[in-house]
Amino acid sequence: MKALLIHQHGGLEQVRFEEIDNPEVGPGLVRVKTKATSLNHLDLHVVRGLPGRDLAMPHILGSDGAGLVDETGEEANRFSIGDRVMLNAVLSCGKCEFCMEGQHSLCIKLHLVGENSGGTHGEYFVVPEANLRKIPAQVVFEEAAAFSLVFQTAWRMLKTRTHIRPGDDVFIHGIGSGVSTAALKIVKLSGGRVFASSSSDEKLKQAHQAGADFCYNYTKTDVVQEVLGATGKRGVDIVVDTVGDATWLQSIQLARKGGKIVTCGATSGPNPKTEIRLIFWKQLEILGSTMSNQREYDEVVALLGQEKLKPVIDRTFPLSEGKKALEYLQEQKQFGKVVLVA
Ligand code: ZN
Repeated sequence: MKALLIHQHGGLEQVRFEEIDNPEVGPGLVRVKTKATSLNHLDLHVVRGLPGRDLAMPHILGSDGAGLVDETGEEANRFSIGDRVMLNAVLSCGKCEFCMEGQHSLCIKLHLVGENSGGTHGEYFVVPEANLRKIPAQVVFEEAAAFSLVFQTAWRMLKTRTHIRPGDDVFIHGIGSGVSTAALKIVKLSGGRVFASSSSDEKLKQAHQAGADFCYNYTKTDVVQEVLGATGKRGVDIVVDTVGDATWLQSIQLARKGGKIVTCGATSGPNPKTEIRLIFWKQLEILGSTMSNQREYDEVVALLGQEKLKPVIDRTFPLSEGKKALEYLQEQKQFGKVVLVA
């Protein structure tokens, strides 16, 4: 088969679309004929190389995918050949104290499809059957491939970690990324108000169309003053910060007394300037979150099936032009997900 892969870490010049053996099924595994995959910021980190991770090369990229069941291994009997399936990339051991409690995202051996093991950006991918779900009938492959990683991540952040309630004010930095647009949809579904920021008026326009209540271009306005003005000096209940260095101090200023800041990433860097006095004085809760448990994944897939949640797709590229798609993602011009079609 052909796949988007690297032979060594480096820049995007390392990414190739070339022939590689089809992945083989084993016990409990299912081979999927890929119809669509989607890019994540994680793909760029994997190309560059993650500290302490020694990948077997060549390594196929990709942590989101959807397609048709092509072959099932022994003991894999939940699906039939030809079933339309979508992927949950969370690989957990199933044996540790956290897995035993259903807390798969806390698994001591947690890893992801495409991060430590072979990914989805090929004509076929092989994963444990427990990681697949049937695609709801009216959902097309592109949507199914664009959905999982960002929605399960944003769902856990907002529902499980911050316990979002109707009427909550939620600030989302850097609207346009996959997780931030998923968070926008989940806040609106939960009956909250969205405050979104970006450096791009175009992205803010799209955010407004997608339901954002207040939009701020941080290159033109003092976001903290604007939000304090709009909330009667109170601040917001929840801040979704996936940016890190560039936004952390603002997040602390934006949160109301007793408010929550939740993070699942740090695209601008992981060591921000902080302000401990405001953290204790305002009694803030700072929450980490990563991926989701299987129960949370089932919840978001059900909402996808009920058409209550729907991914925003920015652009699609053919799988063969995956390198070009990664370059496009790296430029951060997208609003929503970049999808590859096989
Ligand atoms: Zn485990």
